[in-house]
Amino acid sequence: MAGEAGGDTVFGKIIRKEIPCEFIHEDDKCVAFKDMAPQAPVHFLVVPKKPISHLSKAEDSDAELLGHLMIIGKKCAAKLGLSNGYRLVLNEGRDGGQSVFHIHLHVLGGRQMEWPPG
Ligand code: AMP
Repeated sequence: MAGEAGGDTVFGKIIRKEIPCEFIHEDDKCVAFKDMAPQAPVHFLVVPKKPISHLSKAEDSDAELLGHLMIIGKKCAAKLGLSNGYRLVLNEGRDGGQSVFHIHLHVLGGRQMEWPPG
């Protein structure tokens, strides 16, 4: 399911509504939707419409967009009832475990998270 670095990915198809997907949130800059393989009772992704492949490829001018993803993540977490907390994850590259090369913020909650992560 992973896309090639620098190419289009499944998230591009979701953003363009070529693949049906129920959005938790959509605005002009990003979408949020549930992860298809949830790792917690609540697990959703916040994905910028701009197809930045990796966090390491983001530019200084993307700072506002990246901050927006966190603000939308916390608003969606509240909307989904995660009042006891949650975890944000952004996997970068091979060692970070990134499998879809269109950056996305994972929001996980609904159970006690452990540290360190695997
Ligand atoms: P990462 O490993 O950080 O790149 O995360 C990619 C995430 O995208 C994984 O948690 C997948 O389960 C999720 N994913 C891949 N394809 C889809 C899809 N079509 N709909 C929802 N989630 C997806």
